[in-house]
Amino acid sequence: MKKQASDAKTILKHLGKLFGFLKELDAKAGIDESFNFPLEIIRQAMMFDVSVLYNVSNIIETRLILEIVKVLDPKGLRPDLKESQKLQIFLNDPDKRYVNEALAFLNKQVSYENVPGTGCDIMGYIYLPESFGGAYLFGGDFCGKESSVKYYEVAGVEIMCNFLSTILMKTQFQQQAEIDHLTGLFNSFKIKRKADYVVKRFERKSLSCACVAMGDIDCFKKINDTYGHIQGDQVLKKVGEILSASLRGVFDVAGRYGGEEFLLIFDETDETNTFQIVERLRKTIEATEFEQADKSGKDSGNTFFHITMSFGVASLTKNSDIKTATDWIARADKALYESKHNGRNRTTLYQEKKA
Ligand code: GH3
Ligand code: MG
Ligand code: MG
Repeated sequence: MKKQASDAKTILKHLGKLFGFLKELDAKAGIDESFNFPLEIIRQAMMFDVSVLYNVSNIIETRLILEIVKVLDPKGLRPDLKESQKLQIFLNDPDKRYVNEALAFLNKQVSYENVPGTGCDIMGYIYLPESFGGAYLFGGDFCGKESSVKYYEVAGVEIMCNFLSTILMKTQFQQQAEIDHLTGLFNSFKIKRKADYVVKRFERKSLSCACVAMGDIDCFKKINDTYGHIQGDQVLKKVGEILSASLRGVFDVAGRYGGEEFLLIFDETDETNTFQIVERLRKTIEATEFEQADKSGKDSGNTFFHITMSFGVASLTKNSDIKTATDWIARADKALYESKHNGRNRTTLYQEKKA
């Protein structure tokens, strides 16, 4: 059976939709949000039975290791393709199911060889710099049908692959600019912007209350000195994970403000509630077992240690006379200083000093 050809007009119409999507794409979109829509549009435009996106995860001599990132297979025709699964392709002598993957990778362009017995597929190459996680391959399968690929279909996939490369670069650039890579939280630039945004919104229409909490790991220098910097980094990472896990449920945003300092923003939450939440968080951190690593950073598996954190909370209300995010954060910092001064491992609410 011959595959059904898509017509050039349909492909152009779908390309228009893709460019509209790119313009609107939110920087914080994860890989799912960035790819789900474009991949479905491409699948429809090209009339693929199955489409697949691979990340080039490694090249070892003539072996290409691909990781399956996404599979769209509404009819369940390729149960062998599973997301997160890794494939090994011998570039000199690829399995006939993966001939186009090998050729697209080697030639860095669309390949659409018809392989007797397996039908035809089209595979394209998506450029991405190594520092952004390396290249991707994207294509579709006309399961078991004979090839009759039209020149405009090949051109269409080539354009779509360039388009997907632009999507990836856009999201990655923005991630690098806004995310702290060690903890996965917002970086200090972005968390300050978030605080700015809350203060400005408050100016326009005074809502009930918002709070910031500044947290700082106690005696962190000692952790570095005792266990080494790699272990210090692991502690920061784990604290970031604990904060992210709490983030979904109880507060809005968290960022790494400085080395071992974290800023949390609680929108639409008053001082009393913020205090309770922060105290719960502080106790979680105090109770967490941190696994001691050996010199190379591997977990030892049996030795644990504990850390503590101090917090300072400052509220933003109609009467608090806060003009900028810097004022607001400075108050939380003062309260944090009080916590340190009073013996650490505690939370302090900022209080206006009476003259
Ligand atoms: P305190 O309880 O008063 O906060 O004491 P502290 O030791 O935590 O504070 P101090 O400011 O004296 O030291 C902070 C240390 O954090 C010093 C610095 O080397 C370390 N640090 C900052 N950023 C990083 C990082 O990214 N990784 C690691 N491993 N250490 C870091
Ligand atoms: Mg500290
Ligand atoms: Mg500090």
